[in-house]
Amino acid sequence: DVDVALATAWLRAAADAVTADADLLTRLDSAIGDGDHGANLRRGFTAVVAVLDGSEFAGVGDVFVRAGATLISKVGGASGPLYGSALRAIGKALPPGESADLADLARALRAGLDAVSKLGGAAPGDKTIVDAYGPAVAAFEDAVAGGAALPEAAAGAARAAGDGARATTPLTARKGRASYLGERSAGHQDPGATSTWLLFQALADVTA
Ligand code: ADP
Ligand code: MG
Ligand code: MG
Repeated sequence: DVDVALATAWLRAAADAVTADADLLTRLDSAIGDGDHGANLRRGFTAVVAVLDGSEFAGVGDVFVRAGATLISKVGGASGPLYGSALRAIGKALPPGESADLADLARALRAGLDAVSKLGGAAPGDKTIVDAYGPAVAAFEDAVAGGAALPEAAAGAARAAGDGARATTPLTARKGRASYLGERSAGHQDPGATSTWLLFQALADVTA
């Protein structure tokens, strides 16, 4: 089951991951953006951890809603509102109460992807967060439908997100700052798809 402790452990692991790999994210964003993706996510998730440290949560959904609101308020770049909206949508989609089951989490992750798509307007193949998040959710849903437990479903989602992030390299960006480069954005892995992979890997790590 997915409870408050697991939700907070995931977000703490996510903060550790984006902090450890901030230089990688910044390097990727320097190639096709403005070089702030690592700093944006490190600042945002550091603020999320501070909120987790100072709060008690009645429900598992509240953890994600508060985390999402924090990202929206602390990160100025495109990624803050996008990841913030995703986390808020995940939190709002979870049933009230201390824990949720795997089918609930699958539905919530899908709601998070829908929020990103609605806010950012990106389709699959536009070289964005969607290109890692979409395959990750699909893999998670398939695993849950096939009766997998959380560690297996999370590992499958992380693998799919990593594959999706790597597959952005040859693409031409059609959304976000990288789209200003047109075809010159091809040949570089998308920073946001890469951070999405880190976030799903963090879930796999805390559930393994
Ligand atoms: P900014 O581009 O404002 O500096 P960041 O560097 O933090 O913001 O984030 C850049 C990442 O955000 C991109 O690599 C891309 O994956 C993602 N992104 C940008 N625009 C969109 C969008 N419309 N939909 C989905 N993801 C997007
Ligand atoms: Mg940037
Ligand atoms: Mg920026």
